[in-house]
Amino acid sequence: MARADFTPADRGELYIGGRWRPAQGGGSIAVEDPFTERVVAHVPAGTPADVDEAVAAARNAFGPWAALSPQQRSDYLRRLHDSLAKRADEIATTVTGELGTPIKVSARVQTGLPLTVLDGYVRMAATPEPEVEVGNSLILREPVGVVGAITPWNYPLHQVMAKVAAALAAGCTVVLKPSELTPLVAYLLFDAVHEAGLPPGVANLVPGTGSEVGAAIAGHSDVDMVSFTGSTATGRRISHLAADRIAKVSLELGGKSANVILDDAELGRAVKVGVANAFLNAGQTCTAWTRMLVPATRYAEALDLAAQAATAYAMGDPFEETTRLGPLASAAQRQRVHGFLRQGREEGATAITPEGVPDRGYFVAPTVLADVDPKSTVAQEEIFGPVLAVIPFGDDDEAVAIANDSRYGLAGAVWSSDPDRALAVARRMRTGAVDVNGASFNPLAPFGGYKQSGLGRELGAFGLEEFQQVKAVQR
Ligand code: NAD
Repeated sequence: MARADFTPADRGELYIGGRWRPAQGGGSIAVEDPFTERVVAHVPAGTPADVDEAVAAARNAFGPWAALSPQQRSDYLRRLHDSLAKRADEIATTVTGELGTPIKVSARVQTGLPLTVLDGYVRMAATPEPEVEVGNSLILREPVGVVGAITPWNYPLHQVMAKVAAALAAGCTVVLKPSELTPLVAYLLFDAVHEAGLPPGVANLVPGTGSEVGAAIAGHSDVDMVSFTGSTATGRRISHLAADRIAKVSLELGGKSANVILDDAELGRAVKVGVANAFLNAGQTCTAWTRMLVPATRYAEALDLAAQAATAYAMGDPFEETTRLGPLASAAQRQRVHGFLRQGREEGATAITPEGVPDRGYFVAPTVLADVDPKSTVAQEEIFGPVLAVIPFGDDDEAVAIANDSRYGLAGAVWSSDPDRALAVARRMRTGAVDVNGASFNPLAPFGGYKQSGLGRELGAFGLEEFQQVKAVQR
């Protein structure tokens, strides 16, 4: 997979009711390659009228889709999986081209993970949880209905798949609005939806801006549930829109996760893995461990190790196999990160890594910050760039206190040579996930946030349940 393989074409249509059709407005959205800084393709800008049509198509499709047997829905999802899997190379090059993720990471994470997630839902769709009896009640699980899915750009197919596959497996129908920065990979998904022959209206695609299409979906009177991933500020707006009609929301929002390295941990490995986690996808990962908490007695050593690891993150064309750090997704995102770095300096933080970047592409150099006050902006706000704050602590209690001193609570990590001590700290962390000693990501585990990191869970059986409601039938 090379840059020459990235040859995106303009896409002129929306996918509604099982057909490709023109948008009702005349507007378009330009898709930019963040490395070349050039526009590479256009997609239509949908309108609220398109949302109305898509929601109507999803509503018409809902009854028959929900009435299929679990095995029938699973068979459709299997066909979707197979159709999408054929496009794996194109997905990887598309995400690298429109987002800037290094190609190896695109293939493994941006492509492999959503296929794994879909494969899991093929199986879960076929084997629903058994109905249970509680006293004289039979408890039924039923699909919520029409789901509006609104997604961001950082894991553009994975975030879509976590919603669409789970919702379809649960018996819901979907209207998707992908991020305006990365719509092209969503088109590949809907090419596969069409090829797989999903019944018309079961899955619909309306690209467009957040303020037009996103707000129209979130505020639509016939959307039963809004499933959103993105910033906490937008999640709050979507909650308000949905609250007017008491529609269910699930929100997967920002994070400022702490990587707690206890004094008996293997420091070298913990720092190296911690830096890799913080800089994955150029730091544009909601679960990124952006605060590295290290024992005060080993602070200088940890800073050295982190700076060494950071400088190994070669910047360059994300299509080159040697590139480990691609550009940020957009000029706006780079500007945002620069703003945080400026504020960090003003609040006393010191960057201990070089600042130079390639002369083309929206790069921010891999940055390690020392002298970070845990209360300061760079320790509290989600930066969404390759910026790691290293913060010393005295004892385990102080480490937990610093880790929990955040309005976010999405993820985190603990390192210790004593598994019981690590688990004790993990239990005290107020976050939706904690990884002990670099344990691998589990795509079947529930994923979601405490506090302002969100509401509800995605992935695995918990993610499917999110798209169901329960009914008690007394007999
Ligand atoms: P965003 O929240 O603005 O956008 C996410 C999605 O919501 C996009 O599809 C967007 O079009 C849509 N949207 C925007 N305004 C809307 C509205 N009023 N109503 C309905 N939908 C709306 O996030 P962004 O602009 O893509 O990124 C901004 C910041 O958000 C990032 O810098 C980062 O800090 C954070 N972010 C977090 C995650 C995460 O997974 N936690 C993902 C992406 C971005």
